[in-house]
Amino acid sequence: MGFQPDSRLNMDLRSLVVGPLMVNTYILIDPKTRHAAIIDPGAEAVRILSEVERLNVNPVILLNTHTHGDHIGGNETIKAMTTAPLAVHRAEAEWLADPSANLSDMLGSPIISPPADILLEDNESLHVGELELKVLHTPGHSPGSVCFVVNNSVFCGDLVFREGVGRTDLPGGDMGQLVHSIRHRILTLPEDTVLYPGHGPSTTVGYEKQTDLFL
Ligand SMILES: [Zn+2]
Ligand SMILES: [Zn+2]
Repeated sequence: MGFQPDSRLNMDLRSLVVGPLMVNTYILIDPKTRHAAIIDPGAEAVRILSEVERLNVNPVILLNTHTHGDHIGGNETIKAMTTAPLAVHRAEAEWLADPSANLSDMLGSPIISPPADILLEDNESLHVGELELKVLHTPGHSPGSVCFVVNNSVFCGDLVFREGVGRTDLPGGDMGQLVHSIRHRILTLPEDTVLYPGHGPSTTVGYEKQTDLFL
């Protein structure tokens, strides 16, 4: 768990590692309005909500980078306990409530998420207080994987990790699409852009350009 206030970027960020697959849940905060986005509440919703309460922020949107079970397990409780609408890319809207498609069956505890309130499109903008989040549709790990770009940070789900890339052997995965998404949507961003993945530590565009031999 780390608190990373960054006045230059005018956003606050809290991260929690949740569930058996150690998903990074991010609470992205606009310090002016105290509005917040909850990104990938994979599990442990009560712990996430108590953190939201402790931070005294108002969750205005609930985002899933994609709908694999390890990223969506907290949706139901957070939807029930807040007024935040749930947003996912339209390509995976049907997976939310389908434990076979969202792979939660395979992970051993079926997850039926409430439906999405907002279906995301490539290049659209979302607002969290005064923060603007740009949606990038970045398929490859899954067909509806998206990244959220805010200031010089990207929340990239399971597309790219520090010194690695997302797996593409799951249903709907596609290595060609993954490489295309990383090359054309991520590595084209400024080198000091910080990448916050769905698992593991953060990294930067510049660092991944140097280290990912694969790319
Ligand atoms: Zn995944
Ligand atoms: Zn994952």
